[in-house]
Amino acid sequence: MDRIDKFLSTSTEETVQTGRTSKTGGKKNLNKRKTTSVPVADIVEESNGKKKRIFANPESNKAISVSAKTTKKTKTANKNKEAIEFLLNAKDEVEKTHKRAGVSKSGLKVIFLGGVGEIGKNITALEYGDDILLIDCGLAFPGEDMPGVDLVIPDFTYLKENASKVKGIVITHGHEDHIGSLPYLLKDLKVPVYGSKLTLTLLDNKLREHKITGIKQNVVKPRNQIKLGCFSVEFVKVNHSIAGAFALSITTPAGIVFHTGDFKIDYTPIDGEKIDLPRIAEIGEKGVTLLMCESTNVERPGYTMSEKSVGEKLEKIFIEHATRRLFVATFSSNIYRIQQIIDLAIKYDRKVAVVGRSMINNIDAGMKIGEFKFDKDVFVDIEKIASLEDKNVIVLSTGSQGEPTSALSRLSSGEFSRVEIGENDTVIFSSTPIPGNENMVNKVINNLYKKGAIVIHDNVHTSGHACQEELKTIHSLIRPKYFIPVHGEYRHLKEHCLLAESLGMDKYNMIIPEIGTVVEITKNAMVKRGTVPAGEQLVDGLGIGDVGSVVLRDRKLLSEDGLVIVVIGVSSITGELTTDPYMITRGFVYNTEADELTEEAKQILLDTLATIDLKEDHEWNELRNQIRKPLRNFFYKKTKRNPMILPIIFRV
Ligand SMILES: [Zn+2]
Ligand SMILES: [Zn+2]
Repeated sequence: MDRIDKFLSTSTEETVQTGRTSKTGGKKNLNKRKTTSVPVADIVEESNGKKKRIFANPESNKAISVSAKTTKKTKTANKNKEAIEFLLNAKDEVEKTHKRAGVSKSGLKVIFLGGVGEIGKNITALEYGDDILLIDCGLAFPGEDMPGVDLVIPDFTYLKENASKVKGIVITHGHEDHIGSLPYLLKDLKVPVYGSKLTLTLLDNKLREHKITGIKQNVVKPRNQIKLGCFSVEFVKVNHSIAGAFALSITTPAGIVFHTGDFKIDYTPIDGEKIDLPRIAEIGEKGVTLLMCESTNVERPGYTMSEKSVGEKLEKIFIEHATRRLFVATFSSNIYRIQQIIDLAIKYDRKVAVVGRSMINNIDAGMKIGEFKFDKDVFVDIEKIASLEDKNVIVLSTGSQGEPTSALSRLSSGEFSRVEIGENDTVIFSSTPIPGNENMVNKVINNLYKKGAIVIHDNVHTSGHACQEELKTIHSLIRPKYFIPVHGEYRHLKEHCLLAESLGMDKYNMIIPEIGTVVEITKNAMVKRGTVPAGEQLVDGLGIGDVGSVVLRDRKLLSEDGLVIVVIGVSSITGELTTDPYMITRGFVYNTEADELTEEAKQILLDTLATIDLKEDHEWNELRNQIRKPLRNFFYKKTKRNPMILPIIFRV
């Protein structure tokens, strides 16, 4: 059964074509062989004395077809198993033959460098012949297992090795998980970038920060088309939690590839520009070969609430808390939300004070490109709000995720010297905590309550991602031949496949990719075609990729078990100790316990040193290890912990 299972799972994921291979193996489909062209590979195998033949069809890249003869003996379960065993072997053979025949050269390759099996770090490459087109180039934020790491970016090895093929980068929208890694790629790869005005304004800020010049940035508008190598790309307006978001309709020699980017369907968007469903329907009508669709909210039934309904909720709060001073924390890139808050401020005669660097930057960017259409004197300096009545003030702030250094967090703990939170304040979280941030957010909320404020943190937010019914709409309009779910952890991708299946999609026409997976599409088939180097690089301060597993292990050790520093002075003439060894511990044990423990440890150290001839010229590392080992054993025996032990030996 093991092997059968293996076959079933590989067939689901690896072999996707016109439906000739199937879960039922021999039973249903073996008798349906339909070869439309001359087979190049004709593999003959002896099994139970009978001949079986399989064909590899170079045209379709069809993985397996089995001659009709075989089917007659597949009635019993045993025979089925046999057939599957045979198919397993045959499949390998066919793949080898394909490789030899160079069949794979003809197809469109879809290369997943990030954003699948994870949320964040979205980056996908399309490759055909000598052309590579890159879709998005985002970053991820480090997990709890990466202490001290600032950012996680994709591994660019494949793109760098094929630099001459890369014709350009198209960006769906300006969120960090779609543009965040661009500076790290563009510093080596000077290729043109295409995106909306807001996306490129945000990117430009980044490039300036990284002092990267010489990048052609091309602003595109909805329904614009551009040509990059053999690809032509059309930008299709979609709704999302940031302005200027696009889906991409990419015409390739292997047919149309439609990539949704991040999207939702909002019939009442703040900027009045709805997702371009008519155009999406037209593209679907033309015939789409491959749909790649985001999966973030695939587990949520129904529809995502319109951005406008958040405005209505906010307005209710404005009315109910009319005499109080208001604070609103939200995502600084959600320009629609900010727009609504400022509109309400104007309507209810409040001045807006903005705090937090990214909030100020994004409002600046929005004003610069004309995304915001209000008068500048609605704003007031945070220093001056004390001179205004509470009912005439609203503070717009970052920190909706409880980030410890954010303005709101400092306000809540009283570290923000310019404003003091008090009993006449209402603080609104127009956001939801991103998984993992709940504790930080809770801390801020508790602190705000302690200061006497009223805190509203439920339901004053909507997601920017499509829920199930919206996803169904896109699937139904596009009606693709093949489907690959993107932007989600494995469970999201799997759920998305089930959703597609419920709409009538053949499950053998879908693939769940992993980071590094190469999927190849030809006229008649979609198959997994190996992998390319891929993964993640860790950015720590200014260094890229210099944080290896050793550094991470050290940091983890330090954060969990602490540090013991051992200082030893040795006379370079006599080889004797010049002073008593000195021991400092940090983050290891309480000071009171430490005294006793270090005294004992010191004795062990002295005993160890007595066995080493310190006059001799030692290999430093070796000497350090000699000192470390007995100490490590001792500390572990006493505390069941493994602190990092750092011997410092100096000769005088
Ligand atoms: Zn997004
Ligand atoms: Zn995203």
